[in-house]
Order: sequence, then C-alpha cells, then structure tokens
Amino acid sequence: GPIKQEDLRNLAELGQGNGGSVIKVEYIPTGLIMAKKIVLIDAKPTVRKQILREIRITHSCNSRFIVSSFGSYILDPNICICMEFMDKGSFDGICKRIGAIPINVVGMVAANVLEGLLYLYDVHHIIHRDIKPSNILLNSEGEIKLCDFGVSGELINSIANTFVGTSVYMSPERIQGAEYSVESDVWSLGITLIELAHGRFPFYMEEADDELSAQPDFDADREPEQRDVPDLLAPPLSPASRRRNRRRSKGVSLQGGSTELSILELLQQIVREPPPRLTSSEKDEGKFPKVADEFVDACLIKEQQDRRPPAELLKYEWIEQTLDSGVGMKKWAESV
Ligand code: ATP
Ligand code: MG
Repeated sequence: GPIKQEDLRNLAELGQGNGGSVIKVEYIPTGLIMAKKIVLIDAKPTVRKQILREIRITHSCNSRFIVSSFGSYILDPNICICMEFMDKGSFDGICKRIGAIPINVVGMVAANVLEGLLYLYDVHHIIHRDIKPSNILLNSEGEIKLCDFGVSGELINSIANTFVGTSVYMSPERIQGAEYSVESDVWSLGITLIELAHGRFPFYMEEADDELSAQPDFDADREPEQRDVPDLLAPPLSPASRRRNRRRSKGVSLQGGSTELSILELLQQIVREPPPRLTSSEKDEGKFPKVADEFVDACLIKEQQDRRPPAELLKYEWIEQTLDSGVGMKKWAESV
C-alpha cells in the first residue's frame, strides 16, 4: 500500500538544499532504509494534488541509472518524497570530502548520467532540468544514479524559495530564457564533469583575485547604482566594477572556491564568455586524456542547436574507452 508518515522512523539528516531537506528513514513495516525528501511548498490544495500526480510519474521510472521512488504524500505544508537511499551520498559531498575525482571515475559519471538522461527522455519524455553534482548519487555497489528530475513544473513553481531553478549549471540559452531541452541537460553535465575532475566549480574568472588586487580601480568614478541589478545583456564588467559588484551584492560562495561571485555575475559570464574547458590552463596540460577534453568540449558548445544529444555523446571515444577499461567502481565507492 502507499507509504504513510506513521510508518517512517527518522534516522539522520542527509542534507539540505534550497527547496527542503532530505532525511534517512526506516520504513518500519519492512525495515527498508529510504531517503525522505521534504519539500516546503506554497500552493493551493488543488495545485498540491497536481504536483503529487506529477511526482507519481517517477514511481514508474525503472532504470539502474535513476534513483527509484517508493512513494510520496502530502504532509501539510510539505510534500514528502520517499526514494532509494544511496549510502555514499551525492558527488558534491564526495568532492568536499576527497577533492578532485579520478578522471576514469568522472568518465563513469558521464556515461551513467547520459544513460539516465536517455532513459528519462526516450521512455518518459522527461527532461531532467537540474543536472549538478548534488543530484548525482553513489552507493557502495559503485552504482551512479540521477535524482531530482523536473517532472513537476508545478512543483518547481511552488517551492517556497525564489532561487530554486536558478543555477550556475544552467546553459546559456536557459539563462536567456529559452525552454528546457535535453541539450541544456548536456551543458549542465559538462560543467559538472569539470567540477568533479578539478574538485571545484569551474570559475570563469580563474585569475580574478590576482587581477583584482594587482589592478587599480580604473573606473572609480562610474555610477555605482549602474550595477546594483546586474543586467544579463549589459556589456562585460571591468575588474573594478566586478570588485564593487562583489562587495555590494550578496556573494554566493561556491564550493571549493575562494572567490565570491554573485550568482548574477556568474550567469552573465556564462552567456558572454567562451565556455569553460576541462584543460583550461597550462598547469593542467596533459593531466586529462585528450578524448576527455574532446567530450567535455562537445557538452559545452554554447549554441544549443550545435550541442549533441545524449545518444550521440554516448558514442564518443572517451565514453567507450571508459566503459571498456572496466573502472572498478565498487572498489572506488567503498574507499570514499
Ligand atoms: P538544491 O536544493 O540546490 O537542488 P541539493 O540537491 O543539495 O541542492 P536536496 O536535493 O534537498 O538539495 O538534497 C540535499 C542532500 O541530500 C544532497 O546533497 C544529497 O547529499 C542528499 N541526498 C539527496 N537524496 C539522497 C538519496 N536518495 N540518498 C542519499 N542522500 C541523498
Ligand atoms: Mg537535489
């Protein structure tokens, strides 16, 4: 029968996100350990029921690349979603613990995420919409699975937090207001892979800190108000105005980085600057196989129409080599 709140016993908190929190629970009738996601929503009862109906699509997802879902229910004012517990957590947590992920494991992440995207898209006509390290989970079997896919447009609209849906993993076309597409998931995957391989978020302004401390404030007499609300279509910011911006706007501290950028500044960079690369500086030269660079470049083509869909990316040499090389995922997972 359906899962009821009374049948669950809380064991530990697994993490918190923008939309709510995730708790490790025991399903008392069977002893099964599950992860319960609690999402605080701001919606009328009819909308809530619609959200629940949409979330129930996930119960029919049956793939080894997707975290399974056991059931969901409303616990006013929250929606609770019970899903498969992944005992090694998400890749953002793993990165925080161990730093950079070995490149062959990153290759496995790429292969598994592509398979997951392909399954969601081909079988259920779902676009994930939120590919990032915290939504890619690992268990001690060495399995890598996707969670938190955007089945529910209503849910996304109703989460009681305005920053939900705005993400630094967003593709240039999404930032500029285009509809989601499977290619926007591919972009987010590319950013994610760079982050995992380096152990930190790919900043667009790697040298920003040196640059900022070294250069005088060239445009000190510029109107400060001009930059209070960064405009996505405004011309590029000078280092000096970036510094002012950073002082003024609420900086988003991105994982592993020492630099604070406002989220809007970062979104501007994504639209304007050339895409980030796996091997982006001389010190990284030769660190990663060429085929990995080639794959990540293909994910991060700025024009959506030129970016390849998951089925084609699965045929890239890096993916085939990674799968052929038999990466010992179980052994690696046990070690993290
Ligand atoms: P955001 O809210 O920005 O999407 P997030 O993905 O980290 O961030 P949540 O989806 O609420 O936020 O998840 C919080 C954390 O809970 C995750 O980072 C992950 O470590 C953990 N988590 C989520 N689902 C599971 C699961 N099924 N098994 C184990 N841990 C999980
Ligand atoms: Mg999540």
